[in-house]
Amino acid sequence: MLEPPASLWWSTLPAPVAARPALSRDVDVDVAIVGGGYTGLWTARELLRRDPSLRVAVLERRVCGFGASGRNGGWASALYPLSNEAVNRSVGREQFTHLRLTLQGAVTDLGESAAEDGIDAQFVQGGSLDFARSDVQVARLLQSVERARELDIAEGDLAWLSRDEAVARGALAGVLGATFTPHCARLHPARLVRGLSDVCESLGVQIFEQTAVTRIQPARGRRRARAVTVNGSVTATYVIRATEGYTPTLPGERRTCAPLYSLMIATSPLSDEFWRRVGLRNFETFADDRHLIIYGQRTADNRIAFGGRGAPYHFGSSVEPRYDRNDRVFELLRATLRELFPEWDGVVTHAWGGPLAMTRQHAPYVQVEPSVGLASAGGYTGDGVVLSRVAAQALADLITHPDESTEFTVLPFVQQSLKRWEIEPLRWVGINAGLALAGRVDSNESRQGLSGASLKLLSRLLN
Ligand SMILES: Cc1cc2nc3c(=O)[nH]c(=O)nc-3n(C[C@H](O)[C@H](O)[C@H](O)COP(=O)(O)OP(=O)(O)OC[C@H]3O[C@@H](n4cnc5c(N)ncnc54)[C@H](O)[C@@H]3O)c2cc1C
Repeated sequence: MLEPPASLWWSTLPAPVAARPALSRDVDVDVAIVGGGYTGLWTARELLRRDPSLRVAVLERRVCGFGASGRNGGWASALYPLSNEAVNRSVGREQFTHLRLTLQGAVTDLGESAAEDGIDAQFVQGGSLDFARSDVQVARLLQSVERARELDIAEGDLAWLSRDEAVARGALAGVLGATFTPHCARLHPARLVRGLSDVCESLGVQIFEQTAVTRIQPARGRRRARAVTVNGSVTATYVIRATEGYTPTLPGERRTCAPLYSLMIATSPLSDEFWRRVGLRNFETFADDRHLIIYGQRTADNRIAFGGRGAPYHFGSSVEPRYDRNDRVFELLRATLRELFPEWDGVVTHAWGGPLAMTRQHAPYVQVEPSVGLASAGGYTGDGVVLSRVAAQALADLITHPDESTEFTVLPFVQQSLKRWEIEPLRWVGINAGLALAGRVDSNESRQGLSGASLKLLSRLLN
């Protein structure tokens, strides 16, 4: 099957997806990109914006958008995998502010860029609501607003909403308040990634689908870098690895990032009466402030698409199609949605999931090594919709203008060394302990309204 199984997004594409032909010969290009998700395709797009004469090829194991880019929650947000405080502590105020403003600007820029390219990704920038549904969550969100002010984040970027203000925006059950940021849009992820692949192709990018790269070889002496497949190789000045959650399946990359699974469900289209009561009139994305992340959006056809973490990390960083589904997590998501919207009829029409990638330091990475003709980007955890575009701009700048520094190349996650994950079984124990602890703290908080020592341990783990 070429489609991500059972995803709402693929079943609501305007037309069925037909796979492009596979690589069947040796090819020579300037830039070869392994992986046809947002990272690979935005990079191809941005390279051609900077230099339309470049010869670019994309090699995709299945079809463009098969990975997380075609399956995600459709939050185009300015979120970053590390907390504001952690970034500020490690790189200082100036760099932190530059990163924050770049990501905020990138949300709007993504929508504009897609529109300019004629991609209808159902992009609506209605902002995002993070609801507090317990006293502990109220305290934590109020503290996050207070800390944001200390970092010069103004009310226009992150506001506290009282209970009444929050309910007026989204009448979810048990809401006691919320934070609101305008820096988030909801979109249809598969429309975006498939649209991007069409735009790249129309600009001359050679896209080979059904083409698995088995090895990436660095340049050595006179030999240029190569992406090797069973039916031919692509030789290039640069080979870019853009394989995110699937990275550990490539030789030598098992400890580069940990594949974590995020799973989603979607409801049938809900009635006008339901939405009149619930609100989310501006298509604000929504979550609450539990530790085991949940995320939701009101889709263009008036469903709720709703996801969450909680699926286990699999030993040895293994990535298998069967991990895309987990009945326990689907049931948990359904129960959580029921808790948030008690008037919902409980009908789930789609349930799916997929891998995302987390680096050891939890920060994303962009790396370009001219001496060996290799480059890579990823590690966005669950924030890759916008981060992949920013990473692509950094990659394109570093490749086309290696001697200039730009607003993207000076971002704190660009050209930094990457720590490798611990060997097994340490990786398995550490990651799954963190996931289990997040779930335990959440249920303690909802039962008792307090979090105790485990919360301290969790915040140490998260930072
Ligand atoms: C369920 C889910 C929900 C998410 N929700 C959000 C969200 O709401 N907001 C947000 O910002 N982020 C979200 N994310 C994360 C976001 O989707 C990803 O960070 C982003 O799509 C990564 O894009 P990418 O192109 O780097 O990777 P991918 O889209 O995973 O693309 C990698 C591609 O590489 C291909 N590939 C792998 N190995 C090879 C090989 N050997 N040869 C050739 N091709 C290969 C794969 O088939 C795949 O198509 C979510 C992720 C998941 C799984």
